[in-house]
Amino acid sequence: MAAAEVAPLAKVGGLADVIGALPKALKRLNLDARVIMPCYGLIDKNQYNLKLIKQNIKSGGAPINIWLTKLPASAVPLYLIEHDFFKDKKIYSTTLAGGQQDIKKFVFFSQAVLDSLKALGFAPDIIHLHDWHTAALAARLKTDYQDDQFFKQTKTVFTIHNLANQGLTETKNYLAEGILKADLINTVSPTYAKEILTKQYGAGLEKILNQRKADLYGILNGLDTDFFNPAADNLISQKYALKNLDKKIANKLALQKLLGWPSDKNTALIGLVTRFVWQKGLDLITEKFSQLNCQFVFLGTGEKRYEQALLNLAEKYPAKFKTLIKFDEQLAHEIYAASDIFLAPSRFEPCGLTQLIAMRYGAVPLVRATGGLADTVNYKTGFVFKKYSDQALYKTLNKALTVFYKQPRLWRQLQTNGLKQDFSWKNPARQYLKLYQKLSKMKNKSL
Ligand code: ADP
Repeated sequence: MAAAEVAPLAKVGGLADVIGALPKALKRLNLDARVIMPCYGLIDKNQYNLKLIKQNIKSGGAPINIWLTKLPASAVPLYLIEHDFFKDKKIYSTTLAGGQQDIKKFVFFSQAVLDSLKALGFAPDIIHLHDWHTAALAARLKTDYQDDQFFKQTKTVFTIHNLANQGLTETKNYLAEGILKADLINTVSPTYAKEILTKQYGAGLEKILNQRKADLYGILNGLDTDFFNPAADNLISQKYALKNLDKKIANKLALQKLLGWPSDKNTALIGLVTRFVWQKGLDLITEKFSQLNCQFVFLGTGEKRYEQALLNLAEKYPAKFKTLIKFDEQLAHEIYAASDIFLAPSRFEPCGLTQLIAMRYGAVPLVRATGGLADTVNYKTGFVFKKYSDQALYKTLNKALTVFYKQPRLWRQLQTNGLKQDFSWKNPARQYLKLYQKLSKMKNKSL
């Protein structure tokens, strides 16, 4: 598995969670799963016990070093490629020029993965690629490496985690390249796999996705249920489980205290943890929401316009809204544990992990019916609205609050249904295994 993000070493969003967990689940199915990623400057080599195993390997003329460790709490080998390109403290740049530099960086990474595999003498049956960052590798295997004996048996699976990021230069679209050149492609929920064939959700790539429709699959992401486990989570104030769900309330009181609000166990607490970007539907949360009988806590970073809009709400209605602009794993867990309702009003959502985490923590999700949100939340576990409008969100939240205040038994049932779901990687890993087996049986590489 080759990817730009791997939790917990380097995480920006859900991609990292997937690469941090899926290989472990595959290993449990006796697959020899290994991971390879860039050795970013932000990674603490001591903390993760990195060992230097190869030095000065030539890659595109530039020498690289290869470090080895294990994915934490597992036997999954994790290789890290070291080069000046990756020495920054950031995984991705936020500037336009930086974006172009990122493309060079990840194209270099894609090549370096192939060179590293050769240096390690390890020719995988399947290289599982993730998002545009590794798409160039699929293309290389189909062109320069077509007759390469070392990679003769090697095939590729390309997972689209988000069509919104494509790795665009003036002349190239790396995501498109991955879609066209990988042997099989998949995305992270069945509904998103269908949606992306349409103009509305295809982000300009619907034509080429339709070309590859026969090779396109949708496998719902799982969750690292060890890491996200209210019964054993050291990041929250009070641990709890289904059998003692009443204890959850202590987390609400603790968060209210932390945020400078008076203790109030009866008022509904609404949580939202996300990247503050266009995709996530943040513009649906308007001043009108201050009229609702509840408190909101927003955690995230991203585009200034959303940060500012949510900060403005918190400034104007300090008793109703708190907005925290940062990436903070602990605070995120505290919010999941404290919330009664958790929002995911996304414009589109390939899979979405936050609604799954919410259900695991007994927070009832309120989501827009799109992509993986539509596949994972229904009237038995939460609240769903269809139309992308602030009124639709407002109305649905109002309905949820009525149930919360007036029908506590139904509320408890919603929480219980959510907590009982199995969102672990066990099932998704089995589906990936089937996909790999299907690919191994394909005699000739497609295309
Ligand atoms: P995406 O991949 O689009 O960012 P997902 O819902 O798939 O969205 O995954 C988001 C993951 O990142 C979740 O684990 C969520 O808790 C985490 N996350 C997002 N923003 C923050 C933040 N500001 N602080 C801590 N964790 C965050």
